[in-house]
Amino acid sequence: MAISPFYKKPISYRSVYYKNVLQLLKYYKVRGYFHYYNGNREAVPAESRINVGLRNEDGKKCNDTIQSFLSGVCHELAHVLNYRNKKYYDYHNFHMNTRYTKKRVQNWIRVGYKAERYTDKVGQELMRKHFPGIPYLKAYTKKDGHKWYKENYLKDLYEFMRGERTFND
Ligand SMILES: [Zn+2]
Repeated sequence: MAISPFYKKPISYRSVYYKNVLQLLKYYKVRGYFHYYNGNREAVPAESRINVGLRNEDGKKCNDTIQSFLSGVCHELAHVLNYRNKKYYDYHNFHMNTRYTKKRVQNWIRVGYKAERYTDKVGQELMRKHFPGIPYLKAYTKKDGHKWYKENYLKDLYEFMRGERTFND
């Protein structure tokens, strides 16, 4: 029987990797918000802020693995660095109170997946540099990444473009 690698263990606030993440964010001057509610992840690049849950994406009980948590942090951090480096700038340049316009949403639809793939590349570099020995888990994989992206993320944007929903309430 294969022995599970250390990074498949669950993440918690007590983990040395959690403490490493806090140091990493301090280094990049990014505010991190962490919680046990779920595994939701997001970045607000223009505010130098990331939110990463410590739970599994689908489960409310189980904590995420160290590997998945660190990959999520590196991915969201990469979004902030991309914004600072003006990579896919329009995609990254939004605040919580940014109004959705057809022009902006059309741009997100057009470049979104490319921007996410690029962010995975940067995330992977961050992971190699700061957590060597722990393989990066891509947020978007080649095989079904675009399908997922379309079904889950673009769906709302297409509805917006057709005037079937609004995000500005
Ligand atoms: Zn992303």
